[in-house]
Amino acid sequence: MNDPPRSPKEARRLERLKHGSRATRDTAPARRQSAHRPRPVLGNIQNIQSATSDEATVVVSKRALERLHQGHFWIYRSDIAAPETLSGGEVVRLADERGWFAGKAFYGSRSQIAVRLLTREDEPVDDQFFIRRLEQAIALRDAIRPDPERRQAARLVHGDADLLPGLVVDRYADCLSVQTLIEATDSRRELFATLLQRLLSPRAIVERNDVRVRAYEGLEQRKGMLRGEPPGAVEFLEGEVKLVADLLSGQKTGAFLDQAENRIEAGRYAKGRALDCFTYGGAFALQLARKAERVIAVDISEQAAAQGRQSAARNGMRNVEFKVANAFDLLRAESEAGERYDTIVLDPPAFAKSKDTVDAALRGYKEINLRAFHLLAPGGVLVTCSCSFHIDDATFEHTVLQAASDARRTVQVVERRGAAKDHPTLLGVPETRYLKCLILRVL
Ligand code: SAH
Repeated sequence: MNDPPRSPKEARRLERLKHGSRATRDTAPARRQSAHRPRPVLGNIQNIQSATSDEATVVVSKRALERLHQGHFWIYRSDIAAPETLSGGEVVRLADERGWFAGKAFYGSRSQIAVRLLTREDEPVDDQFFIRRLEQAIALRDAIRPDPERRQAARLVHGDADLLPGLVVDRYADCLSVQTLIEATDSRRELFATLLQRLLSPRAIVERNDVRVRAYEGLEQRKGMLRGEPPGAVEFLEGEVKLVADLLSGQKTGAFLDQAENRIEAGRYAKGRALDCFTYGGAFALQLARKAERVIAVDISEQAAAQGRQSAARNGMRNVEFKVANAFDLLRAESEAGERYDTIVLDPPAFAKSKDTVDAALRGYKEINLRAFHLLAPGGVLVTCSCSFHIDDATFEHTVLQAASDARRTVQVVERRGAAKDHPTLLGVPETRYLKCLILRVL
């Protein structure tokens, strides 16, 4: 069956394949380098290339370079050698162990991710560079959803995926909400505010740097105004629905924009009696309310429900009722009472915040999906989501299937969705994917 190898080279290749060594190397995910592996050394490399800039050079291990070439953008501290004088937030030149230029990057002094690639080109990283990056990011959003009147909301800059690591910019109508999540973007936040003001002329720029990830960078929690006056409640359009975001006190940067397209899409399938669990400001509920007869929207937060009621009133929608309750309890009570719904949305917070909590998280997802399958009338629609980065598409789908089979329901997949298009991902950086949204129909 097997032909004999035709050359010594092929023989060696077959041998490697047999022992799995090559296969392992080709498919195993890059592991973090162990502490005892020698780090690359800062050799006598300063004079190797005529540098186009006076940035410090960081030497990168061969393994990390391979990852860079495969499209990954982060390098861990154990994979670099950096001059001791380097401070967090600087732009550095990357070089391989022989001194060849490999790119330019933001350097971080605290995080385990020491280096985040900015460019593979030997180009100046100056104001013009950041303007080009911002314009490139904004151009994508203009192409996705041209909004000349600026009445909608959009994520304009999505960090790494827009080659602006550590920078998030969301637009809500004529206001911007910005996060600078790493040392390099935090120390440049005045620059970014100036450039954004110049490019977009917003009424106000808010900073929402009250997020836990900043702790890994040694950055404090902070929120406030970068430009303009506190904007109050900002109204914006999502599809046909008016929503309101409080940029200074709302969750995230004011709303959950990653779900925007999923909400509009969910609205297309809504009908009959609808239930929106984990509703926050009612953004799913209001899309459902355009077609459903009656919508019950549930959140554990009183503040969220109050905001939802206001938004419903703004849209003149009287068929939505906001309840303050624990969604787990409500789902159980409703299913034990034998209630029936035609449309259910489950959009919980990330149950798995770390790898250690994945099992507990999966039990949580199974529980709410099981209850939902019990509650759905024949032909009913379930929109079920997970924003846990540590749970991948296949695992989530498997959990939903287990819930369906425990409930003895046959389930049709209508759509498999992810984050909105203005939250792009990088092909080479799987960490930029996290949101899963299934639109299902019970047959
Ligand atoms: N669906 C929303 C986003 C939901 S974010 C949207 O599209 O905008 C998750 C929400 O779940 C938060 O508002 C939080 O207050 C709420 N929440 C967290 N735990 C809950 C629980 N056990 N029961 C009900 N709501 C909960």
